Amino acid sequence: MNTIHKTDEAIGFIPLPGDKGKPITVIGNDHIRAGFDEMCLQQIVNSRMAPGVTDTILNPDGHAGYGAPIGCVMVSPTHIYPGPVGVDIKCSMSLLQMDIPEDVIADKKTRRALINAIIERTPTGAGRGQRSVKKGRRVGQELGIRAVTEGASPGVCEALGIPPEWADRCEDSAHVGHDGTIDALGSRLEWILDQKRIRNFGDKIGQLGSYGGGNHFGECEITRLIDRPSAREASDTFGLKDGHVSFLSHCGSRGFGNLLATAQFKDLERKFEKWSTPYPAGDKKLVYAPLGTPEADAYIDDMSLGANFATVNHLLINALVLEAFQEVLPGTMGNLVYFISHNIAREEIVNGTKSWVHRKGATRAVPGGHFSLAETPFAESGHPILLPGNPRDGSVVMVAQGGAERTAWSVNHGAGRQMGRKHAARTLDQKSVDAEFDTSDILFNGRKYPIDEAPDAYKNFQEVLHSVEAAGLAQTVAKLQARFVIKD
Ligand code: 5GP
Ligand code: MN
Ligand code: MN
Repeated sequence: MNTIHKTDEAIGFIPLPGDKGKPITVIGNDHIRAGFDEMCLQQIVNSRMAPGVTDTILNPDGHAGYGAPIGCVMVSPTHIYPGPVGVDIKCSMSLLQMDIPEDVIADKKTRRALINAIIERTPTGAGRGQRSVKKGRRVGQELGIRAVTEGASPGVCEALGIPPEWADRCEDSAHVGHDGTIDALGSRLEWILDQKRIRNFGDKIGQLGSYGGGNHFGECEITRLIDRPSAREASDTFGLKDGHVSFLSHCGSRGFGNLLATAQFKDLERKFEKWSTPYPAGDKKLVYAPLGTPEADAYIDDMSLGANFATVNHLLINALVLEAFQEVLPGTMGNLVYFISHNIAREEIVNGTKSWVHRKGATRAVPGGHFSLAETPFAESGHPILLPGNPRDGSVVMVAQGGAERTAWSVNHGAGRQMGRKHAARTLDQKSVDAEFDTSDILFNGRKYPIDEAPDAYKNFQEVLHSVEAAGLAQTVAKLQARFVIKD
């Protein structure tokens, strides 16, 4: 049994065996702490004790995942861990703010028309790619290679009709190879294609501009600003518009990232077996590579290729969503607020040491004035943190506070699951779930809302947010109220 010791209203710690090393930081009030299951706690302990790991944080949305919990941060100056980045490399959130007032979409017919126009351009569902995209936006092999090696470069944006200034609104608009060059990614991709690691590369590239299945979604929102002077200042910089329509997207690197990640897991497992290296805590999902080895270099390159796919995917989706709005509501203008990941490892300075910060279902949270934002539009304000909750209880935009220094500049990534998919399908009632959407006047595509994705399959979002704010990590700047959801 692992016990969380409470130190503050929403902060606790798990001591390491023998009190050796920095304890695990746990964010969560009483309600949240009581909800962590033993498997999740054991995973955060395993992750903390794994070679080269100097710090781990369990966030309030934490639940058991692949080796490490979903909803955690893992810091290492010496090792890279593919499992905690996960199969959906750079799964991310993005928010598009439009200039249309909420009453324009009050009518159900208008919202239906918007759903149809969006689905036509950015289909959902496993394996599906773009269906009917305006000429010039269909991504062929050559442009696909550029997209995954260059990311959202000016050339790639131009070729896909993505406003080039949106690249400044990305946590990272481009990822480079292990040696800091694009060339490294080019050679790695060549090798990957040569080895037939990615079969049907053309099909995978054809998925650029699509959501995929499962928990990925597009959601039309009304932006509601929080009336507090500091929040108003941040929301001005973010470009948020009170009482106006916005659009929240959740997806990652689709089949392309998935194939790269699973091949990496297998490669490393094979090496561990060959060298008779023990897995951390006996869990092969926690395979790792020491930095500077060919294994680490290969993983970093693959992660970057996947991350570039996810970046271009999100920006293209936003361009297509805007195009759909313009078709239904001519003259609509929209700007990207931000694009930020919750499944990625980034090289950052943590407590003065250059480290790889693995955010597994966690979001970077850097406040204004921090050196790492110096060259960005958010140098003074801090960057937007996009946190989905659930369609019924809403989502939020937050901004980091100084307290996030103790969590390696990170917060949660959403509400987090409290029920597995099967558990949700067994215990929740389809009719009541659908009726709830009806009562709240939230439309969705499809005939039934996916039961394993129902709001109650996730943790109580208010308790999660309360924990983040009480711990001094971030403050809410705006609430997002759902008006329709597109989910497979
Ligand atoms: P992930 O699947 O990346 O682990 O979780 C993302 C988060 O998105 C979940 O923890 C949950 O809080 C949130 N979420 C899942 N589905 C929806 C949805 O349809 N709408 C909104 N607003 N949030 C969602
Ligand atoms: Mn994902
Ligand atoms: Mn995700």
